[in-house]
Amino acid sequence: CGIVGIVGTGAVSERMVDALKRLEYRGYDSAGIAVIENGSIVRRRAQGKLDNLREVLASSPVDGTTGIAHTRWATHGVPNEANAHPHIADNVAVVHNGIIENFAELRAELAHEPDGFESDTDTEVVAKLLAKYRREGMAPRDAVLAMLKKVTGAFALVILFQDRPETLYVARFGPPLAVGFGHGEMYVGSDAIALAPFADGIAYLEDGDMAIVDRDGVEFCDFDGNALSRPRQPLQLAS
Ligand code: GLU
Repeated sequence: CGIVGIVGTGAVSERMVDALKRLEYRGYDSAGIAVIENGSIVRRRAQGKLDNLREVLASSPVDGTTGIAHTRWATHGVPNEANAHPHIADNVAVVHNGIIENFAELRAELAHEPDGFESDTDTEVVAKLLAKYRREGMAPRDAVLAMLKKVTGAFALVILFQDRPETLYVARFGPPLAVGFGHGEMYVGSDAIALAPFADGIAYLEDGDMAIVDRDGVEFCDFDGNALSRPRQPLQLAS
């Protein structure tokens, strides 16, 4: 269970898998990535070790400078490719660590959403809710805030909207999540170890924080949308 995201200036897929590798110590049963390639979300996933995902990417490469990546430790739904993250609904992709406690209730409520449910995960309701709110006309930030009002449980979430190809929307309540600062690039990740090779600064989300990350930096707010400031600290790991 680990998360990585990059709003980059160069190709991100290989760097994201390398960063997931540094999160292997947290344990996982499957892995996946999604990037924006030529304006569309494309996804690759694999059950098992990161080497399996690397093989998928070698035979079916993706090209993109913004992406999200995930290692999964299954809580709801067996470890297989269909349950691996990212989960996609319409034009939104989501990675999640944690548990959405009220997923059964939300699945029932969303049962008539287009395309049905593709996975047995608790996470997919997050993608479905966001897709529904966007179809109803909400801007990405408002859709994320509305989703955060609906879900209960524990989560580190990173969200990528196809029509915001250089922005990551992230939220934390429970599992750790941090934002990394680079040179003309920005990152998100489960911890400093994931981000260390890229970032020279780091800011940690606290429980109840949302953040919008793009090439220019990061804005933090609470789940009501009120602005927050979180200190940027130097990122130095003992080697
Ligand atoms: N509960 C989610 C799932 O089973 C996320 C698990 C995780 O933290 O990796 O898919």
